[in-house]
Amino acid sequence: MGPAPPLFPIHSLNSGHDMSHPGWTTVRTIALQLLAVTLLAGLAVAACDRTEPVELNEYGNPMSVEPRSTGAEIDIEDLQTRLYAFAHDSMMGRQTGREGNMKATAYIARELERLGIEPGGENGTYFQDLPYVVRRYTSGSSLSVDDQALGWLTDFVATPGNSPSAPIGSAQVIFGGIMGDTTNALSAEQAAGRLVVLLPPPAGQRGGRAGGGGRGGRGRGNAPPSPLAEAAAVAVVNLDDLDMADRAFINDPQGRLDNRPAGAPAPEPQQANLRLTTSAAEMLFGAPLASLTPGTTGRTISANLEFVERPVPEYGRNVIGIIRGSDPSLAAQYVAIGAHNDHVGYNTNPVDHDSLRAFNSAVLALQMASGDLQQVTPEQRQSISVNVDSLRQLRPARLDSIRNGADDDGSGSMAVLEIAEAIALATDKPRRSILLVWHTGEEGGLSGSRWFTDNPTVPRDSIITQLNIDMIGRGRAEDIIGGGDNYVGVVGSKRLSVELGQAVVEVNDRQPSPLVLDYRFDEETTWPGYNNIYGRSDHWNYARHNIPIAFFFTGLHMDYHQATDEPQYIDYPHYARITSYIHDLAIEIANRDNRPPVDQASTEGR
Ligand SMILES: [Zn+2]
Repeated sequence: MGPAPPLFPIHSLNSGHDMSHPGWTTVRTIALQLLAVTLLAGLAVAACDRTEPVELNEYGNPMSVEPRSTGAEIDIEDLQTRLYAFAHDSMMGRQTGREGNMKATAYIARELERLGIEPGGENGTYFQDLPYVVRRYTSGSSLSVDDQALGWLTDFVATPGNSPSAPIGSAQVIFGGIMGDTTNALSAEQAAGRLVVLLPPPAGQRGGRAGGGGRGGRGRGNAPPSPLAEAAAVAVVNLDDLDMADRAFINDPQGRLDNRPAGAPAPEPQQANLRLTTSAAEMLFGAPLASLTPGTTGRTISANLEFVERPVPEYGRNVIGIIRGSDPSLAAQYVAIGAHNDHVGYNTNPVDHDSLRAFNSAVLALQMASGDLQQVTPEQRQSISVNVDSLRQLRPARLDSIRNGADDDGSGSMAVLEIAEAIALATDKPRRSILLVWHTGEEGGLSGSRWFTDNPTVPRDSIITQLNIDMIGRGRAEDIIGGGDNYVGVVGSKRLSVELGQAVVEVNDRQPSPLVLDYRFDEETTWPGYNNIYGRSDHWNYARHNIPIAFFFTGLHMDYHQATDEPQYIDYPHYARITSYIHDLAIEIANRDNRPPVDQASTEGR
């Protein structure tokens, strides 16, 4: 599930995907400093069929699972085997544009090959590459003042943007006060052609991304142009607290989709964003920062940012497989089943996993207690106490920096694989073909599903339905209001085809133990973080092309986009039942005489 675009995510700490999250440091500090109240349930120790006892958590899950061979049955063991591998730390959060996404997609392709499933990607492969490029600055980048050179990483670093940065050359330094403080902001005339140096807002007042004080640019939408738009560059003094690894990470690009048509001009250069240490900033002014007021000018610098650009299609690719239908008259039509193979990567600011989870659990409990997920106030946050000592008695601190995305969308990705295995190993194949698509780039704005539906590897109108799965591993009563053992959210199933909507219900009614279908997200919701679910995952790109869709998910929860979204917190029995149900639904649609007719006209939602 992608982040909520215009409103707040469910937790205020999961904004943005780069390491400049102010929230991480804040939460770590809160979680580690506050005292009292214990929140972690005791760990159960259970015997298993091996000689060594395996420690199970409060959900009955182990910390790790040895790979076992999988079979045609859709069951807990297979899902665990797959998900513990797919959401493993070695996948580094599977972020599109980074190596982890390549590893994750390679894993899926290997499984498809092992199962003898036909490649459905490009050039006879399982892959459809997207034109991703990474752009990063080199250590040849320079910043100097009066022939005194500042050191890359030791004194300054630059943040790669969506397009190459505009050259800085020679520019006078001017102090712009505190980032985001509009009352003392420079005028456009003061900023023009200068290097504007800003202080970060005080801790606790940071919203959204830090470090972006300079995104002067042309302004977005109807927003007025920033007075800093014509500055030569913008620098924020917020490097002191970061060690060298964190500083290098600022320049560790995550890859950008570069889908310019051949021959199109290069993107317009963007104003450069720098980050400085305090001592570097004071050198640029020749004065202590404390003595400066907005508008104070300093010395004249000379800067040259060097960058390299490298295409990395293998870091952002859809994985596609096909299981041929058995009815020659219908096999050219497809029921598509999809999930997203990417997640939001990693951070170099490690957090204490158990403290973070205990803290977030308390935040969510407070929100749910309000009955309708009201935002937690800063005062309520302050009142949450985590007894770190009692956590430590259970086990030593586990520093964690990888957002594993076990639920988001490891659960969907591995459900699709488990469904694929069940169909591939079955003797009776469905009449229509099954198109399996693991999309990349969902978290970065649904780019993989947009790419696939704009450039489908099978005729677009042969895709008769798309079933999308994004986050079906949770949905306990503690995770979502109305949650429980039988819970599953369904979105969009009636928006384009009444018949598909009915099939969703009928197939559920035939399950050995039917699920409770929750349609709340087809309605307007005021729950923070839950706005526009219909437009927030890959199904939307199919619906955009008038392909009937049904989207399944079990809700956002305390671990959404956190380092704590790990396989040991998944509700496997529940997850296996939802997976079986979606399998049965796919078979039902694939076997019907007629494709679900499009008889509704509603693709609103994005
Ligand atoms: Zn997500």
